[in-house]
Amino acid sequence: MNTTCDIAIVGGGAAGLTAAIVAAQTAHTAGKSLRVVVLEASDRVGRSILKTGNGRCNFSNQHIAEGPALVDYRNADFVRAALSALNATFPEPDFNDPVLAFFEDLGLEWRQEEDGRRYPLSNKASTVLDVLRAEAARLGVEEVCEARVAAVEAPTEAGKPFTLRLADGQFWRAGAVIVAAGGAAVERIDFAGPLSSPIMNPVQPTLGPLAVAEADQAFTRELDNIRVRCCVSLFREESPGGNTLALVRAETGELLFRPYGVSGICVFNLSRLAQPGDTVQINFLQMGDFDHSRIYIDSRFAGLAEHLGQAPTYEQFMRGLVLPRVADVLLKRAGLNAQDVANAEELFQMLCLCGFEVAGIGPADVCQVQRGGFAPEQLSAATMQVLELSGLFVVGEALDVDGPCGGYNLHWAWASGMLAGHAAALSRLGTE
Ligand SMILES: Cc1cc2nc3c(=O)[nH]c(=O)nc-3n(C[C@H](O)[C@H](O)[C@H](O)COP(=O)(O)OP(=O)(O)OC[C@H]3O[C@@H](n4cnc5c(N)ncnc54)[C@H](O)[C@@H]3O)c2cc1C
Repeated sequence: MNTTCDIAIVGGGAAGLTAAIVAAQTAHTAGKSLRVVVLEASDRVGRSILKTGNGRCNFSNQHIAEGPALVDYRNADFVRAALSALNATFPEPDFNDPVLAFFEDLGLEWRQEEDGRRYPLSNKASTVLDVLRAEAARLGVEEVCEARVAAVEAPTEAGKPFTLRLADGQFWRAGAVIVAAGGAAVERIDFAGPLSSPIMNPVQPTLGPLAVAEADQAFTRELDNIRVRCCVSLFREESPGGNTLALVRAETGELLFRPYGVSGICVFNLSRLAQPGDTVQINFLQMGDFDHSRIYIDSRFAGLAEHLGQAPTYEQFMRGLVLPRVADVLLKRAGLNAQDVANAEELFQMLCLCGFEVAGIGPADVCQVQRGGFAPEQLSAATMQVLELSGLFVVGEALDVDGPCGGYNLHWAWASGMLAGHAAALSRLGTE
């Protein structure tokens, strides 16, 4: 096989496939042709896409294009600059969202759910991969699977190609390289030549469950696999050793108890901000506001007392409000007897201030994102090209960019892939 190409993409995931398609589309629009090759470590491209959104692929979010939500991205200024460059590069008067226009052009029908989350109309992640692969094939993009890139060697002379060394000893030469290997893998690629030591921020899992301190696990273990809708807040000591807690962030949604701690999308979002020693606090009344919680408890207490003709017991107060198992475990943790007459302050403590100490992130294999990788300050936000090394581009999770649940991470992968694919093609066509 001829192993020389114009553009080599390292990794055929969300960002890599998009970069390959846009590079080929850019050449096609210019009436030219470029050899674009995707080098993929696994036996097929797009496996990572199939796993997303519980197999449904939450591929984007309405609120990203609106702007304010961008603050939730890590390295938000870089993301804001990149998405604004994307709008300038691919102007879309009808949508104001080039990513959506890209997928519509590929024939993807989609629908929007709560919080602006966007899914394919088919509700299947495979539909997203199907339209990507069909477009890549139409444009002659080549997929080379079971090709794990071990090293990227930059040319030592201008005009010479990059060398990509594969783990099995083979090598490829390419005029431009787009690194789209995802978060965990990028650390393991050797970069040689002029960019021998790129700034790599340490890679660590995030957007996942939270493990709680061992003493608190006695409680979460007893509730293992129970799901509750609640408001969950993250608090941090204002100053080390102090006793004033400051709210970091609150989320409302479904929480899942696990033996090691707590999980669920609302917890995943807090995990991006959490540090060991923080407090994660559950309000089972689903209220973020303590004054309203107290008013609710007093009024429910009064209503039940009137109905029963006497003050309710803890069991009577909790029945119909939380699951019996949750009530049992909360009472046990507080050292209270279900048959005792309920006390409003104790109820408030149990139901609204149920706190645990954060020990750290939960099991890595449940986390959705790897934080870290290429530090964005080494790149142009408009093209994703490494500033000091013409012809090398980095996209998607290989960069130290991550966002909350809701389509933010895939949106970043497509958007950065589009910018790099376009810029890499222009550089090879000599029309930058
Ligand atoms: C379970 C789960 C569910 C998720 N759900 C969502 C969701 O619904 N919405 C959302 O926005 N985000 C979701 N995410 C996050 C999202 O999947 C990622 O942020 C996104 O896939 C990153 O795209 P990427 O192309 O940068 O990396 P990846 O999709 O990880 O692709 C990297 C590719 O590179 C290949 N590769 C790795 N190393 C090499 C190498 N050395 N040589 C060649 N190839 C290599 C890999 O095999 C892979 O195919 C989810 C993540 C997980 C784990």
